[in-house]
Amino acid sequence: MASKSCLRFFIFCLLFCCILPAGAAREDWARPFPGHRVIGNLYAVGSYDLAVFLITSDNGHILINTGLEDSVEMISENIRAVGFRLQDVKILLSQQSHWDHTAGLAEIKATTGALMLATPRDAQILEDGGYSDPHFGGQVSFKPIKVDGIVGDGEVIELGDLRLTVHEHPGHTEGSSSYSMSVRENGRDYQVVIANMGTINAGKKLLQGPTYPGVADDFASTYRRQKAMPVDVWVAAHGSQYGLHRKWQPGQPYNVSTFVDPEGFQAAIIVLEKRYLKQMAEERASMEVEQ
Ligand SMILES: [Zn+2]
Repeated sequence: MASKSCLRFFIFCLLFCCILPAGAAREDWARPFPGHRVIGNLYAVGSYDLAVFLITSDNGHILINTGLEDSVEMISENIRAVGFRLQDVKILLSQQSHWDHTAGLAEIKATTGALMLATPRDAQILEDGGYSDPHFGGQVSFKPIKVDGIVGDGEVIELGDLRLTVHEHPGHTEGSSSYSMSVRENGRDYQVVIANMGTINAGKKLLQGPTYPGVADDFASTYRRQKAMPVDVWVAAHGSQYGLHRKWQPGQPYNVSTFVDPEGFQAAIIVLEKRYLKQMAEERASMEVEQ
């Protein structure tokens, strides 16, 4: 029902607008965007700013993230436009258990029968619809989804000829995760990373009454580990985070080098790390004043 979902979206915007990364606009979450091939068997099938990734294999597909609850039809059409079927998705993954990336998971699971896999720390939040989220919780913010299996750091998810490595990159949420794989195109291997970036939502506390215990160390280790990753091609949970609209415009033909951007990945991490260090210094200073 349009009116009900509009109201829900409005309430969500009031409560969660701080999830938005800098430079992104709220209407960009729901705005349709054409599905396109990123590299090899990786396709972007999400909205203008909420990234959804399809990774295809010879025995079904993996779908990462979903966007908003009302985005499922658009995702399905984008998958069809790049030559595949939503019904052939066998495994569902999320990068972070926040409403703007998870709200369609339950519906997609129900229609495809795909298995939902998640990191231990995000699994509970997915199963209670965001209620136990230490920052935005205390209410159900998306339709809960049953998690069928737990995946951990370094684990390799196998599906047909596809091998996808899980990287736990906590901080943004306690169970945030990135994924990596090697793609062979034009006779060479490309290291591809689907990164969950270490952005700090407004209101998050790192040191003083931390949003969850260990959050400051989690962000620090995520920046350190991401900087050390071998990367040729990278994408992230929001198009605006990985320069989607600078790199690719609708109608642009597939080219293996379109999303090759190792320097951009390093630069994006360094920007976020600087913001983190600034907030750490501010929180330390205010704790000293109070003592
Ligand atoms: Zn988030």
